[in-house]
Amino acid sequence: MRGIYWLKMPAYLDTNALGAANRLPDFYWSGETDMACVAAVVAETRAHAYAHHIQRLMVTGNLAMLLGVAPAEINAWYLGVYADAYEWVEAPNTHGMATYADGGLVGSKSYAASGAYINRMSDYCGACAYEVKDRLGERACPFNSLYWDFLDRNAARLDANPRMALPYKNLARLDAAEKQAIAERAEALRQSFGATPLQAEGRVST
Ligand code: SF4
Repeated sequence: MRGIYWLKMPAYLDTNALGAANRLPDFYWSGETDMACVAAVVAETRAHAYAHHIQRLMVTGNLAMLLGVAPAEINAWYLGVYADAYEWVEAPNTHGMATYADGGLVGSKSYAASGAYINRMSDYCGACAYEVKDRLGERACPFNSLYWDFLDRNAARLDANPRMALPYKNLARLDAAEKQAIAERAEALRQSFGATPLQAEGRVST
Protein backbone atom coordinates (compact mmCIF):
# COMPACT_ATOMS: atom_id res chain seq x y z
CA MET A 1 0.00 0.00 0.00
CA ARG A 2 2.80 2.36 0.88
CA GLY A 3 4.59 1.57 -2.38
CA ILE A 4 1.47 2.18 -4.48
CA TYR A 5 0.89 5.46 -2.68
CA TRP A 6 4.36 6.85 -3.30
CA LEU A 7 4.49 5.48 -6.84
CA LYS A 8 1.10 6.75 -8.00
CA MET A 9 0.27 9.88 -6.04
CA PRO A 10 -1.06 12.50 -6.49
CA ALA A 11 -2.93 11.21 -9.59
CA TYR A 12 -4.02 8.11 -7.67
CA LEU A 13 -6.64 10.15 -5.79
CA ASP A 14 -8.32 11.00 -9.11
CA THR A 15 -8.78 7.39 -10.20
CA ASN A 16 -12.39 6.44 -10.92
CA ALA A 17 -12.32 3.42 -13.23
CA LEU A 18 -16.03 2.70 -12.87
CA GLY A 19 -17.13 6.31 -13.35
CA ALA A 20 -18.86 6.39 -9.96
CA ALA A 21 -20.40 9.83 -9.47
CA ASN A 22 -22.96 9.68 -6.67
CA ARG A 23 -23.00 11.35 -3.28
CA LEU A 24 -22.39 9.51 -0.03
CA PRO A 25 -25.63 8.79 1.87
CA ASP A 26 -26.10 10.74 5.10
CA PHE A 27 -26.41 7.52 7.11
CA TYR A 28 -22.65 7.05 6.79
CA TRP A 29 -22.44 9.89 9.33
CA SER A 30 -25.58 9.34 11.40
CA GLY A 31 -25.93 5.56 11.34
CA GLU A 32 -29.67 6.06 10.85
CA THR A 33 -30.60 3.20 8.56
CA ASP A 34 -32.62 0.01 8.81
CA MET A 35 -29.63 -1.95 7.48
CA ALA A 36 -28.38 -3.57 10.68
CA CYS A 37 -24.87 -4.15 9.34
CA VAL A 38 -24.37 -0.53 8.28
CA ALA A 39 -25.96 0.86 11.45
CA ALA A 40 -23.66 -1.29 13.61
CA VAL A 41 -20.49 -0.40 11.71
CA VAL A 42 -21.27 3.33 11.75
CA ALA A 43 -22.16 3.21 15.47
CA GLU A 44 -18.89 1.41 16.32
CA THR A 45 -16.98 3.81 14.08
CA ARG A 46 -18.51 6.82 15.82
CA ALA A 47 -17.78 5.36 19.25
CA HIS A 48 -14.23 4.16 18.65
CA ALA A 49 -12.92 5.81 15.46
CA TYR A 50 -12.12 2.24 14.51
CA ALA A 51 -13.71 -0.67 12.64
CA HIS A 52 -12.43 -4.08 11.57
CA HIS A 53 -10.95 -4.38 8.07
CA ILE A 54 -13.87 -6.56 6.91
CA GLN A 55 -16.40 -4.03 8.24
CA ARG A 56 -14.66 -1.30 6.27
CA LEU A 57 -14.15 -3.35 3.12
CA MET A 58 -17.29 -5.46 2.85
CA VAL A 59 -19.93 -3.30 4.57
CA THR A 60 -19.23 0.41 4.13
CA GLY A 61 -16.79 0.17 1.21
CA ASN A 62 -18.78 -2.47 -0.62
CA LEU A 63 -22.04 -0.56 -0.20
CA ALA A 64 -20.47 2.68 -1.44
CA MET A 65 -19.20 0.89 -4.55
CA LEU A 66 -22.54 -0.83 -5.19
CA LEU A 67 -24.32 2.54 -4.86
CA GLY A 68 -21.93 4.19 -7.33
CA VAL A 69 -20.63 6.64 -4.72
CA ALA A 70 -17.81 8.80 -6.09
CA PRO A 71 -14.43 7.55 -4.77
CA ALA A 72 -13.58 11.04 -3.49
CA GLU A 73 -16.72 11.00 -1.30
CA ILE A 74 -16.02 7.68 0.40
CA ASN A 75 -12.32 8.51 0.57
CA ALA A 76 -13.06 11.70 2.52
CA TRP A 77 -15.35 9.75 4.86
CA TYR A 78 -12.71 7.14 5.71
CA LEU A 79 -10.10 9.84 6.26
CA GLY A 80 -12.46 11.73 8.54
CA VAL A 81 -13.76 8.94 10.74
CA TYR A 82 -10.90 6.51 11.41
CA ALA A 83 -8.11 7.26 13.83
CA ASP A 84 -5.69 5.10 11.83
CA ALA A 85 -6.62 6.51 8.41
CA TYR A 86 -3.30 7.92 7.31
CA GLU A 87 -3.65 8.76 3.66
CA TRP A 88 -0.84 6.49 2.47
CA VAL A 89 -2.66 3.40 3.71
CA GLU A 90 -6.23 4.62 3.45
CA ALA A 91 -6.21 5.78 -0.19
CA PRO A 92 -4.98 2.47 -1.71
CA ASN A 93 -7.46 0.60 0.48
CA THR A 94 -10.33 2.82 -0.69
CA HIS A 95 -9.42 3.38 -4.35
CA GLY A 96 -7.90 -0.08 -4.69
CA MET A 97 -9.60 -2.69 -2.56
CA ALA A 98 -12.96 -1.20 -1.58
CA THR A 99 -14.14 0.56 -4.73
CA TYR A 100 -11.97 -0.75 -7.60
CA ALA A 101 -11.50 2.89 -8.58
CA ASP A 102 -7.89 2.23 -9.60
CA GLY A 103 -9.06 -0.33 -12.16
CA GLY A 104 -7.27 -3.28 -10.61
CA LEU A 105 -3.88 -1.88 -9.67
CA VAL A 106 -4.18 -3.06 -6.05
CA GLY A 107 -6.83 -5.79 -6.28
CA SER A 108 -7.09 -8.25 -9.13
CA LYS A 109 -10.91 -8.16 -8.88
CA SER A 110 -13.69 -6.02 -7.56
CA TYR A 111 -14.72 -6.97 -4.01
CA ALA A 112 -18.42 -6.51 -4.75
CA ALA A 113 -20.58 -8.73 -2.58
CA SER A 114 -24.24 -9.36 -1.87
CA GLY A 115 -25.90 -9.81 1.51
CA ALA A 116 -25.00 -13.53 1.51
CA TYR A 117 -21.34 -12.69 2.07
CA ILE A 118 -22.12 -10.34 4.99
CA ASN A 119 -24.40 -13.02 6.45
CA ARG A 120 -21.59 -15.59 6.23
CA MET A 121 -19.06 -13.29 7.86
CA SER A 122 -21.19 -11.77 10.63
CA ASP A 123 -24.24 -12.09 12.87
CA TYR A 124 -25.88 -8.86 11.68
CA CYS A 125 -28.57 -10.31 9.43
CA GLY A 126 -30.57 -12.13 12.09
CA ALA A 127 -31.56 -8.83 13.70
CA CYS A 128 -32.05 -6.86 10.50
CA ALA A 129 -35.30 -5.38 9.22
CA TYR A 130 -34.36 -6.69 5.78
CA GLU A 131 -34.42 -10.28 4.58
CA VAL A 132 -30.96 -11.35 3.49
CA LYS A 133 -32.19 -14.15 1.23
CA ASP A 134 -34.51 -11.94 -0.83
CA ARG A 135 -33.42 -10.18 -3.98
CA LEU A 136 -36.59 -8.25 -4.72
CA GLY A 137 -39.39 -6.72 -2.67
CA GLU A 138 -39.63 -3.87 -0.16
CA ARG A 139 -37.88 -5.80 2.61
CA ALA A 140 -35.27 -7.54 0.46
CA CYS A 141 -31.69 -6.93 1.58
CA PRO A 142 -30.51 -3.82 -0.33
CA PHE A 143 -27.09 -5.36 -0.92
CA ASN A 144 -28.68 -8.02 -3.14
CA SER A 145 -30.33 -5.99 -5.87
CA LEU A 146 -27.52 -3.44 -5.71
CA TYR A 147 -24.97 -6.24 -6.21
CA TRP A 148 -26.64 -7.69 -9.31
CA ASP A 149 -27.30 -4.22 -10.68
CA PHE A 150 -23.62 -3.32 -10.11
CA LEU A 151 -22.49 -6.38 -12.08
CA ASP A 152 -24.90 -5.62 -14.88
CA ARG A 153 -24.02 -1.91 -15.09
CA ASN A 154 -20.29 -2.60 -15.11
CA ALA A 155 -20.22 -5.70 -17.31
CA ALA A 156 -18.22 -4.01 -20.05
CA ARG A 157 -15.49 -3.18 -17.54
CA LEU A 158 -15.49 -6.34 -15.41
CA ASP A 159 -16.85 -9.42 -17.17
CA ALA A 160 -13.61 -10.29 -18.97
CA ASN A 161 -11.80 -10.67 -15.66
CA PRO A 162 -11.32 -14.43 -15.06
CA ARG A 163 -11.84 -13.91 -11.32
CA MET A 164 -15.30 -12.49 -12.08
CA ALA A 165 -16.34 -15.40 -14.29
CA LEU A 166 -18.57 -17.08 -11.71
CA PRO A 167 -20.57 -13.96 -10.74
CA TYR A 168 -21.11 -13.15 -14.42
CA LYS A 169 -22.14 -16.74 -15.14
CA ASN A 170 -24.75 -16.40 -12.38
CA LEU A 171 -25.86 -13.02 -13.72
CA ALA A 172 -26.39 -14.60 -17.16
CA ARG A 173 -28.92 -16.98 -15.59
CA LEU A 174 -31.27 -14.08 -14.79
CA ASP A 175 -33.85 -13.34 -17.45
CA ALA A 176 -34.47 -9.87 -18.88
CA ALA A 177 -37.55 -9.24 -16.74
CA GLU A 178 -35.67 -10.03 -13.53
CA LYS A 179 -32.73 -7.86 -14.56
CA GLN A 180 -35.15 -5.02 -15.23
CA ALA A 181 -36.82 -5.48 -11.83
CA ILE A 182 -33.38 -5.51 -10.17
CA ALA A 183 -32.35 -2.32 -11.98
CA GLU A 184 -35.56 -0.59 -10.87
CA ARG A 185 -35.16 -1.71 -7.26
CA ALA A 186 -31.50 -0.59 -7.26
CA GLU A 187 -32.44 2.84 -8.60
CA ALA A 188 -35.19 3.17 -5.99
CA LEU A 189 -32.65 2.31 -3.28
CA ARG A 190 -30.13 4.85 -4.58
CA GLN A 191 -32.85 7.51 -4.51
CA SER A 192 -34.12 6.62 -1.05
CA PHE A 193 -30.58 6.47 0.36
CA GLY A 194 -29.65 9.81 -1.20
CA ALA A 195 -26.91 8.24 -3.35
CA THR A 196 -27.82 10.59 -6.17
CA PRO A 197 -25.58 12.18 -8.82
CA LEU A 198 -23.28 14.85 -7.41
CA GLN A 199 -23.68 16.74 -10.67
CA ALA A 200 -27.34 17.36 -9.81
CA GLU A 201 -26.09 19.35 -6.80
CA GLY A 202 -23.63 21.31 -8.91
CA ARG A 203 -20.78 19.28 -7.43
CA VAL A 204 -18.28 17.29 -9.44
CA SER A 205 -16.76 13.91 -8.78
CA THR A 206 -13.25 12.83 -9.60
S1 SF4 B 1 -29.93 -8.38 5.66
FE1 SF4 B 1 -28.64 -7.14 4.31
S2 SF4 B 1 -28.77 -5.07 5.15
FE2 SF4 B 1 -29.49 -6.47 6.74
S3 SF4 B 1 -27.67 -6.92 8.00
FE3 SF4 B 1 -27.81 -8.51 6.42
S4 SF4 B 1 -26.53 -7.78 4.73
FE4 SF4 B 1 -26.94 -6.03 6.07
